[in-house]
Amino acid sequence: MIAILKNGTTPSQTEHLIQWLKNMNLDVHVSHGHEVTILGLVGDTSRVDMELLNSLEIVETVKRVSEPFKQANRKFHPQDTVIQVGDIKIGGGNFAVIAGPCSIETEEQIVSVAMAVKASGANILRGGAFKPRTSPYAFQGLKDAGIQLLLKAKEASGLPIITEIMNIRALELFENVDIIQVGARNMQNFDLLQELGKTKKPILLKRGLANTLQELLMSAEYIMSEGNENVILCERGIRSFETYTRNTLDLSAIPVLHELSHLPVIVDPSHATGKASLVPTMAAAAVAAGADGIMVEVHNNPACALCDGAQSLTPAQFDSLNAKLQKIREVIA
Ligand code: PEP
Ligand code: MN
Repeated sequence: MIAILKNGTTPSQTEHLIQWLKNMNLDVHVSHGHEVTILGLVGDTSRVDMELLNSLEIVETVKRVSEPFKQANRKFHPQDTVIQVGDIKIGGGNFAVIAGPCSIETEEQIVSVAMAVKASGANILRGGAFKPRTSPYAFQGLKDAGIQLLLKAKEASGLPIITEIMNIRALELFENVDIIQVGARNMQNFDLLQELGKTKKPILLKRGLANTLQELLMSAEYIMSEGNENVILCERGIRSFETYTRNTLDLSAIPVLHELSHLPVIVDPSHATGKASLVPTMAAAAVAAGADGIMVEVHNNPACALCDGAQSLTPAQFDSLNAKLQKIREVIA
């Protein structure tokens, strides 16, 4: 349920109303817009007398929010959410360029890729330490040691870092990680989401291989309902009948998620296509469709990569992609 307050409502009137609603055991989320203040009510709103609330002097309108996601809903929070990561902002017109290898392999590899992508304009470094592989016999990532190497690359390059968590038991290793990634396969690991909701870290939540956008938003809600509002949504392609590409990039996810939610939307064209040759075109399409950022796999030697070499760009390819994306952003601004 949302209550839109009248223009001119004083802070003390607003506070008084919030206390009254909190006494009904509701969580109240306040969104101060340019013109109006919106109170988003979460909890058992069946006990709220809508007519009484509507009749209050300071209340303009009261509406039920029919969607099951509340805190992620744009109706609760009409302005775009802007996530702050160090000096970098994501969302609300601030664009994130996240780049780096699928997995961290050696210090030399991660540091050299970090320096290269930074020089090309990336503002966040990615690298997997815990890898969710389809086969238990495939390279599983360097795990703890991988995180340590990623921290070295953070120090060397000055870039904030993002890496994937697979199990909440590893959380303490993520203390100096700037953004925690929840991979597609864990999008509905609700225990993991709830535990991450108890942290204050920005969470990049990837859409599951076969999940709807509403399910993605409900997973964001799991994190937000525990108190962590720093959620970034990521479209990374979904399963379809097409086999030429690794997945099918759902570009319409960008405007749909922007319509439904205030959270930033990032696109990962690498896992969406599985082919380096297709990554620049789909990254460009994502930018043109209004994405708040892209996440691209870049490897210093894709032919020898331990994971996802076929979809990894070389630093030189990433450099020319970034120059092109910059031009598209200028055109659509
Ligand atoms: C990744 O980004 O490293 C990854 C494993 O992606 P996804 O969860 O989208 O498959
Ligand atoms: Mn990968």
